[in-house]
Amino acid sequence: MVTDCLFCKIAGKEIDSDVVHESDDILVFRDINPAAPLHVLAIPKEHMVSVDELNRDHAGLLAEIFMALSTIAKREGTGGGYRIVTNVGSDAGQSVFHLHFHLLGGRPMEWPPG
Ligand code: 5GP
Ligand code: ZN
Repeated sequence: MVTDCLFCKIAGKEIDSDVVHESDDILVFRDINPAAPLHVLAIPKEHMVSVDELNRDHAGLLAEIFMALSTIAKREGTGGGYRIVTNVGSDAGQSVFHLHFHLLGGRPMEWPPG
């Protein structure tokens, strides 16, 4: 755990969040400032800054994250589709430097993203 990391504190339940799924290794919770009717964040409980720090040992973790997000999207009825996004670096819009994947759904979306 990184003591000044917001998402480590959320993973450790030091800061409350609206949890939609939890396992030993991951937490999925609703974004505090939703950008779509469905907007959740999936994080590994282990601190890492971004996908830049992944290695082959994280293969199972990544599969678990994507499978959980797929299940949540289906359960919450995104109908016409959904999007999974991870921002890497401040120019890409990353504002919390603990790896997270956004699941966005429930409205039509533009491509490419801004
Ligand atoms: P990023 O900009 O790093 O890709 O995404 C960070 C996300 O975290 C943003 O969508 C932001 O709304 C969300 N966020 C920031 N602080 C909190 C918080 O304290 N609780 C929750 N649930 N989400 C947060
Ligand atoms: Zn962290």
